[in-house]
Amino acid sequence: MGQDIKNFTIEELERYFLSKKEKPYRVKQVTNWIYKKDIYSFDEMTDISIELREELKKDFHIGSLKLFEESISKIDSTKKFLFQLNDGQFIESVLIPHINRITACLSTQVGCKFGCVFCASGMKGFVRNLYPGEIVNQLQYMNFILKKNAQRINNVVFMGMGEPLDNYENILKAIRIINHPYALNIGARKITVSTCGLIDKILKLSQENIQIELSVSLHATNDELRNRLMPINKRYPIKELISACKIYSIRTKRIVTFEYLLIKDVNDDKKNLKELINLLQGHKWKVNLILYNPIKWLDFKPSPLKRAVLFQNGLIKTGIIATIRQSKGRDIDAACGQLFLKTHEKK
Ligand code: SF4
Repeated sequence: MGQDIKNFTIEELERYFLSKKEKPYRVKQVTNWIYKKDIYSFDEMTDISIELREELKKDFHIGSLKLFEESISKIDSTKKFLFQLNDGQFIESVLIPHINRITACLSTQVGCKFGCVFCASGMKGFVRNLYPGEIVNQLQYMNFILKKNAQRINNVVFMGMGEPLDNYENILKAIRIINHPYALNIGARKITVSTCGLIDKILKLSQENIQIELSVSLHATNDELRNRLMPINKRYPIKELISACKIYSIRTKRIVTFEYLLIKDVNDDKKNLKELINLLQGHKWKVNLILYNPIKWLDFKPSPLKRAVLFQNGLIKTGIIATIRQSKGRDIDAACGQLFLKTHEKK
């Protein structure tokens, strides 16, 4: 069986058809079947010659994901999907409805190697990178479900299981497919990549000439605390991280968002707020204050809402955009990695 055709960008497929001496419009025809009509067999592509369909069958297959478990939140209608991959591994994706948009949260790796102490995704260690097709298929599956109600995903966040920038080439390909009008046609500015702070990759991404949003998991205001919460900080200390984000923001003309998980009595006192303001002053940023979603395997507790409000007011007073976000799908373990861990527990 050939490779999953969804592992290839539209530009790569154009080169493929060219090498077969086919007309350039073939790529539009084929991707129309795959991404717009959700067809999973080359035989159904009736406007393509039988000879070319046979060629395609020799060189590719059309990948899909197997749904293993699905849950829906009674609180906010967030839907969580656990998919099984061809090699038996599991990944999670989340569909989050908002008033004016529908967001898909995608996984980029099976497990994670970065071991942030508050996160379920890294608890079983790293297994493997996802292929571009496996990333795109999460989105396509959820879009297919929405189609019945004439809805579609219009916002994508790479905040599921794994560190996206640690799977750099594959997520970039997936983004190019998600963004392309022949494929899923979601604007670059509606795509957010979230990172724990891989500085070299942030700088590389800033030169890709694609204006996607960058979101950085900060979660601490000094190196001592961040080293404890997020071991990656020992390699990429906090001030160097902020400098890299500034470069990203200037090169791409995007406002970088810092995610700050408010964990009770860990990173939520007045000293932390003062340090956060000092770190971020002097450039335009956005801060997302997130009330921690407790995970049964960990001892951390969410900060009370009034502390979040204190942080928000403090940041806004100094000109930093700050919002408070409640984790979605709290009743269905929607924080990344939780369903994955539960499945491992059952096995
Ligand atoms: S927060 Fe992100 S980088 Fe850290 S362990 Fe979880 S998935 Fe990995």
